[in-house]
Amino acid sequence: MAQTVRGFRDIMEPDAAAFAELEARCRALFRLYGYGEIRLPTVEQRELFVKSTGDTTDIVEKEMYAFEDAGGRMLALRPEGTPGVARAYIENGLPAKDLRQKLFYIGSMFRAERPQAGRYREFEQIGAEYIGNPDPSADAETMVLLAALLKSAGVKEIRLEINSIGCPQCRPAYKQALLDYLKANLDSLCDNCKKRVERNPLRALDCKTDGPKLAAGAPPMKYCPDCDAHFAQVREHLKNAPLAFNVNPNLVRGLDYYTRTVFEFRAAGIGSQDAIAAGGRYDTLIKSMGGPDVAAVGWAMGADRVLAAAASGERAAPKPEVFVAAADKTAAPKAFQILQFLRGEGLRADAAAFSQSLKSQMRAANKSGARFAAIIGEREAAEGTVTLKDLAPGGQEKTVSPREAADLARRQLQDGLKAS
Ligand code: ATP
Ligand code: MG
Repeated sequence: MAQTVRGFRDIMEPDAAAFAELEARCRALFRLYGYGEIRLPTVEQRELFVKSTGDTTDIVEKEMYAFEDAGGRMLALRPEGTPGVARAYIENGLPAKDLRQKLFYIGSMFRAERPQAGRYREFEQIGAEYIGNPDPSADAETMVLLAALLKSAGVKEIRLEINSIGCPQCRPAYKQALLDYLKANLDSLCDNCKKRVERNPLRALDCKTDGPKLAAGAPPMKYCPDCDAHFAQVREHLKNAPLAFNVNPNLVRGLDYYTRTVFEFRAAGIGSQDAIAAGGRYDTLIKSMGGPDVAAVGWAMGADRVLAAAASGERAAPKPEVFVAAADKTAAPKAFQILQFLRGEGLRADAAAFSQSLKSQMRAANKSGARFAAIIGEREAAEGTVTLKDLAPGGQEKTVSPREAADLARRQLQDGLKAS
């Protein structure tokens, strides 16, 4: 029997509805903050990620689904969204229209990681990129937006950690100091970090194996005056938002393109994969890709983890409100018409096979969890009426016009909502 591939999942109701609702909430908030949507291709040139995400990152080194297509092109399933957005910004000539662009995306990302709870090989990211605003208020705004999204999604407890990793002026000195420290502690590095320490010492602090213990003794970052002032203003804006945060001097991110601000949101109660969103500033990426010298800041949120953190109680699959049944074959055309009429009235209406006995159709109605059955028999078909039966215990039935039936059902469903 055919099966899903390891690390890949079917997402079924009620989870599928939860994803759709999260996406809808995000779209509404993005609009409020002035973001437009970008639908990115799933497949990009492999080079795009090697050059932007970075060839010494876990994502590119170990996790990327890269392949050669029949035309001999080296391609990859996108492991993250930012490089694609930066490419699209340049390729579509957006800078000529306005250097400043606010873009969001929603879609699957692919990483060949070890599957476990909260870690999948295809997962959904919802991401935002604010291009063309170097001001510290842009950093703060993206974090405030993310916090608002998480709140709207029902994530109750969030922790925000921030740091600045400096710029091409002040980072080299820090990198050197860090490299000296790591070389002195080479024995405590994992094999992978030993290999890449020379090329990218920062990566060791983000290592899942030895990062935390190395971070404790690592030398502090020394910022140039501009980076120092920028970071101070980001903190100031967050305080005024207000949005609570912690400065974590050892927070670096697993991607190469970040400059200055980096941040991570964690949630309580979802186990060890508790990073639900992360991002930072990337002021040099777009220029390095052949675009204009334009600053940018953004983040990506893991929708799967956000929904896990937001799950409170059971999610219920949506039930029909009215179940339409035809008492005999001649009533089927009328029943089909009523079904469409009820949906047109905004009622969730469904039906089974009209050719079944009324008894089986009523069994299906009860099984569906619908509150009402709308039964059309010979008499109803002739009169143009419908018998609306309340399926709740002790419920009444009434033969009325389709419009009255819709009004009646709607009224009682609303009363039920008020009572509960
Ligand atoms: P982690 O440290 O958990 O590996 P990351 O640093 O690789 O996360 P990012 O690349 O910053 O993650 O992606 C942003 C968000 O996407 C993460 O905070 C997380 O919520 C989500 N995410 C990343 N990888 C996965 C995955 N394999 N499965 C589900 N969600 C993921
Ligand atoms: Mg990862």
